[in-house]
Amino acid sequence: RVNREDFLSALEEVHPAFGVAEEELQQVIQNGIIHFHPVELLRDGALFVEQVRTSTRTPLVSVLLHGPPGSGKTAMAATIAQASQFPFIKLVSPESMIGMSPTQKIAAINKIFTDSYKSPLSVVVVDNIERLLEWVPIGPNFSNAVLQALLVLLGRRPPKGRRLLIIATTSIKPMLAETQLLEVFDADLRIPPVSSLESLDIVLREVELFPTEEERRRAVMQIEEAGFGKTNNYGTQMEIGIKKLLTYIEMARQEPEFVAERLTSALMGLKM
Ligand code: ATP
Ligand code: MG
Repeated sequence: RVNREDFLSALEEVHPAFGVAEEELQQVIQNGIIHFHPVELLRDGALFVEQVRTSTRTPLVSVLLHGPPGSGKTAMAATIAQASQFPFIKLVSPESMIGMSPTQKIAAINKIFTDSYKSPLSVVVVDNIERLLEWVPIGPNFSNAVLQALLVLLGRRPPKGRRLLIIATTSIKPMLAETQLLEVFDADLRIPPVSSLESLDIVLREVELFPTEEERRRAVMQIEEAGFGKTNNYGTQMEIGIKKLLTYIEMARQEPEFVAERLTSALMGLKM
């Protein structure tokens, strides 16, 4: 007899036709994307997807998303990947490789690329390259074996008739330049932090932190007075990654009486 469990597990077995890692992707994009950037980064991403889909001359396109910690690189990469609706979408992430030796990592990364070559259209997201390379700023130290493998895999054209989009992310672009990895990318896309009052206002509106527009407007003014959105005497600006900003917002939400104050003082703690 076929019971409900069998039925469900059968569904699960057929679901990933080529290996779309639904769960992994869902996890990194569960909080969604707020459209606060002055330029539409998702549209830029979609152009790379279209290039891979339609151009016969470029069966391999690789894009590097870079920006400061927490600027939203992983979420952006995963969102672009998912929007492609390509039959094969996989995430290579350091989170899924905890405890692996460099050799095991290389085998795992290699397998994902080899699997992608079986699908006519694929996206592989190589998340957080510096972590994959076990790079540490003191030293500097990293796994040369993983680096060599990535240099090969990121540059290798898929077999005839197959097309592949690679989206990689990093917070440390200079490291990629030093290791020659930067050269293998066809394009790069900067994912900037939140630094303008307009962007901040959009985020605050979208997360519905304040019950009225009036209260939100007053909070933004308070934050402006504290210096956010301005350039200081040294030419630098206060900025915050969307990831941290969302955390601050949720912290402020815990104290309904003092939301604006909590948020302002958290932002004041930022380094200029
Ligand atoms: P890290 O440097 O630690 O790797 P990251 O740059 O990869 O961080 P994410 O892990 O992608 O940042 O975190 C960004 C968070 O902000 C996610 O929870 C995402 O859902 C949310 N978010 C909201 N709006 C945006 C946006 N426009 N772009 C990217 N992420 C956004
Ligand atoms: Mg990330």
